[in-house]
Amino acid sequence: MTSYVFAPPATVSVPVTGSNTRFPVHRIYCVGRNYAEHAQEMGHTGREPPFFFMKPADAVLVVDAGLTAALPYPSLTHNLHHEIELVVAIGTGGQAIPVSQALAHVFGYAVGLDMTRRDLQNEMKQQGRPWCIGKGFDHSAPVGPITPAAAVPDIMHADIRLQVNGTLRQHSQISQLIWNVAETIAQLSNAWALQPGDLIYTGTPAGVAAVVSGDTLQGSISGLTPIALQVC
Ligand code: MN
Repeated sequence: MTSYVFAPPATVSVPVTGSNTRFPVHRIYCVGRNYAEHAQEMGHTGREPPFFFMKPADAVLVVDAGLTAALPYPSLTHNLHHEIELVVAIGTGGQAIPVSQALAHVFGYAVGLDMTRRDLQNEMKQQGRPWCIGKGFDHSAPVGPITPAAAVPDIMHADIRLQVNGTLRQHSQISQLIWNVAETIAQLSNAWALQPGDLIYTGTPAGVAAVVSGDTLQGSISGLTPIALQVC
């Protein structure tokens, strides 16, 4: 039996709707600029191809069904932005997955937030430095319960929305993704060997903006369990 110099960290996991078993998280991949109108609001044309970045698996902040999770306001920033996103949970790994087979690798879907220290991300962009400090901080990846794919009839035509303090801030349709779910899985699997347990944050629609301490966020995608958080 292997002995360690200290206890290994607990496995990060997310609840699964309709089940007592949990989804163990391996990696978190994120897609940037995957809705044209969001790319435009970030100062781009909306015609550049999407790209990828990552968050550490333990950046996950589980938002349980029916509860309001506490979202700690992170250090170093004065401009914490919300990005509501469809999260794809990978159940079967693979490399160089063809688009036509990609959806067979999906375990399920969830509502997530790609929380962003926008001021730090922008500084890093200007200096040509990595985005980690703007994107990969602790609690930066809130995610709700995962609904198994078989129970999600038509994710490609789902509505995605985020309200802050009851006001609609982001609203679009999953059909507006530049790279859809299958294309994103295929592209990612060309760059990394996808593994069971990977989460893919598929990108955010237009309307990203700041939240401050005390704000309440409510995120939803039709057919999935909604999420609620309060910044503290
Ligand atoms: Mn994002």
